[in-house]
Amino acid sequence: EQKYDTGLEKSRSTFGDKLNALFANFRSVDEDFFDDLEEMLIGADVGFETAEKLTDELRDEVKLKNAKNKDEVSQVIVQKLVDIYGEAGEGEDNTLHYAESGPTVFLFVGVNGAGKTTTIGKLAHQLQQGGKKVLLAAGDTFRAGAIQQLQEWGKRDEVPVVATEAGGDPAAVVFDAVKRAKDENFDVLLVDTAGRLQNKVNLMKELDKIKRVIVRELPDAPQEVLLVLDATTGQNALSQAKEFNQTTKISGIVLTKLDGSGKGGIVLAIRNSLHVPVKLVGLGEKVDDLQTFDPNKFVYGLFK
Ligand code: GDP
Repeated sequence: EQKYDTGLEKSRSTFGDKLNALFANFRSVDEDFFDDLEEMLIGADVGFETAEKLTDELRDEVKLKNAKNKDEVSQVIVQKLVDIYGEAGEGEDNTLHYAESGPTVFLFVGVNGAGKTTTIGKLAHQLQQGGKKVLLAAGDTFRAGAIQQLQEWGKRDEVPVVATEAGGDPAAVVFDAVKRAKDENFDVLLVDTAGRLQNKVNLMKELDKIKRVIVRELPDAPQEVLLVLDATTGQNALSQAKEFNQTTKISGIVLTKLDGSGKGGIVLAIRNSLHVPVKLVGLGEKVDDLQTFDPNKFVYGLFK
């Protein structure tokens, strides 16, 4: 909870400040007021469609509760926003799935710089601390830096890394890693992948091939295909998510850099248009700054 509090400071101040400014200019509950409210939601990166829908719901709620003065209206609106954020998470599976027996495989996809390698490093550490035997696969063979970075995390976490030199075949690396995970009874294999979006067709083909290699060796894997998105890129993250989801079936989203984003609204936008649950959030660069996504804590951190 502490982490959510500090990690979301930026989101909170932007959202909170704007909400305060909205009520500072409050005269009456009229269409101008709701126009300003909608604008504020768009500014918080919930997206046009979601902002419109939210504004309609808030308008109805204000009417229903017969709120008239500033205090009544602000209370109704904040409470309703909290309800909506929380509600959207209900019945939604925010948990990571593990294999009943044999190695679990999590495949990480997303564009360069989104935070894939960092997320894998953090998660490897946490799983290791929880007593799991973890293996990493450096499936981003396109960039030498990516391989090196994963190896550094491996050293830090004391977790082995299967890798090849830059330019090697990513599917071959993944094949070796899956085989080793099986032979040496690893509990969890975390697979990094390349994220060059300049060559979308090749990237998607590569991801497809990697997936096929995994399934051939372990029919129930990968248990998760996690799309890593940088929250600070706002609506851009949303369009990336849509693109990836079209070719690679995504089971969950890791939303990174929420500590650096003034736009926590992207969580709502993703939910509303993709129906893929946010499973993990990155709230900083340190090893403990990766947390499971808890909608209620998120709301609490955002609107407190
Ligand atoms: P990749 O290309 O997708 O593997 O991305 P990286 O893991 O290399 O991350 C890109 C940059 O984002 C690095 O400088 C990371 O330290 C940073 N980063 C990743 N996750 C977070 C986060 O949750 N918060 C912050 N502030 N920085 C992050």
